[in-house]
Amino acid sequence: MPVYEYQCTACNNTFELRQKFSDEPATECPSCGGTVKKLISSTAFTLKGGGWYAEGYSGTSGSGSTGCPSGGGCAGCPSAAA
Ligand SMILES: [Zn+2]
Repeated sequence: MPVYEYQCTACNNTFELRQKFSDEPATECPSCGGTVKKLISSTAFTLKGGGWYAEGYSGTSGSGSTGCPSGGGCAGCPSAAA
């Protein structure tokens, strides 16, 4: 769920709202009730992207299933003993 950042045009209070794409955007400042404008928050998308990016990498980089740096070619590897 994306996080939207708003800034109050009356008191300059900034706040974040976690909203669905279908949710109505916030129009009132929670502290003074003034009009708010939506800010473009790139940090929210960076954090969100970093999450699934890291998960994707952990899935593809696990090629060494034996856990041996030689890839199964040393005397201690199960595949070499078999
Ligand atoms: Zn305000």
